[in-house]
Amino acid sequence: MIDRLVEAFPRAEWVVTAPGRVNLLGEHVDYNDGLVLPTAIDRYVLIAFSARDDGLVHIRSLDLNQSACFPINALVAKQDGDGKDLPHWALYPAGVAWSLKKEGFNPAGMDAMIHSNVPIGAGLSSSAAVELAFAAAWQKMGDWKIDRMRLAQCCQRAENAYVGVQCGLMDQFACAHGVARHALFFDTRSLSWQPIPIPPGTSIVIADSTIERSLAASAYNQRREECQLALKYVQEIVPDVRSLRDLSVKDIMTLKGKMPKTIYHRMRHVVEEIERVRQGCQRLFSDDVAGFGRLMNAGHVSLRDLFAVSIPELDTLVEIGQNMPGCFGARMTGAGFGGCTVNLVETRAAKAFAQQLRAEYRKRTDVDASVYICKASRGVHVEPIQ
Ligand code: ADP
Ligand code: MG
Repeated sequence: MIDRLVEAFPRAEWVVTAPGRVNLLGEHVDYNDGLVLPTAIDRYVLIAFSARDDGLVHIRSLDLNQSACFPINALVAKQDGDGKDLPHWALYPAGVAWSLKKEGFNPAGMDAMIHSNVPIGAGLSSSAAVELAFAAAWQKMGDWKIDRMRLAQCCQRAENAYVGVQCGLMDQFACAHGVARHALFFDTRSLSWQPIPIPPGTSIVIADSTIERSLAASAYNQRREECQLALKYVQEIVPDVRSLRDLSVKDIMTLKGKMPKTIYHRMRHVVEEIERVRQGCQRLFSDDVAGFGRLMNAGHVSLRDLFAVSIPELDTLVEIGQNMPGCFGARMTGAGFGGCTVNLVETRAAKAFAQQLRAEYRKRTDVDASVYICKASRGVHVEPIQ
């Protein structure tokens, strides 16, 4: 990939590598102050860049075969220098520059070229990878001291307030903090985190259902509102609860019948899913991959039946995966209504698993899934181009 970038942009001085991510456990809990367990993967957004001294940012995406340009000192209008609206994809880097400025930094003009093998819109967070890649590029050019968490928060604000997509901090966190061979246990309330070793001999196999996530944005917002509503019901009974995160599995038994059934189900998913993340970390620490896999399987049932964000194609992929040799656990991952499943598979069985999963899914749905065998990888970093 880097060769293609250098060929297309020989003057570039630096290259940023920003990974996509997959969430192993802890779905739909980051906006409830919960605990999550994502990992950065070895699929990357690369950007090659060099500084410009005229305050313009020229970006070309090799993947989209499009270019965009914006002045670094007039970001609020979301327009290029000629007063034309920026294409949607350019809002991500422009938003990062806008957000960095809000933090008091002074990002410079640059030429940048993007090339990526993170599938776009599949739920593996190509958006966060693009954001972190640009944030890291501006940091390098300005030689700023800024820690990775703050960089991730800047990028989240870009996506929330500039692009206009509601998302929690998990994606940007994972892209910024990835550690090779480790999952990342992240407390979205305290922002504390810890890398957890993924037992050797285990592969992460991601299957993209390739179903368009058409309902995803509206359903995501609706689920956020339902969780807020559940919290309101809870606060009428226990006023000092600040978020669903504060409830235990035992607490929620006593709340049954105190709110509409659907709202109760949403809450139950969140509380039990957070508990699954706690237990999942213990399982990984004690090398109990099979136990971890069972938690993934239970997580899928909960996302399907209680949180209602799965679709038949994801259920099919999960069911096929769970019943294949070498598979410890499988579940849908990401917001749902399309996107991917994540499977934890014995490394020696991973290749055959990937092939059979594809073949069986095709047989049952007539749809071709893209299947990626992934490794847990390092977070965003910048290197000179030789
Ligand atoms: P996901 O993050 O799950 O891949 P999103 O819809 O959140 O999906 O983000 C995808 C958007 O990110 C794209 O529509 C595009 O605007 C931007 N993006 C991702 N990859 C690239 C790329 N290689 N070049 C330009 N823009 C990209
Ligand atoms: Mg995204």
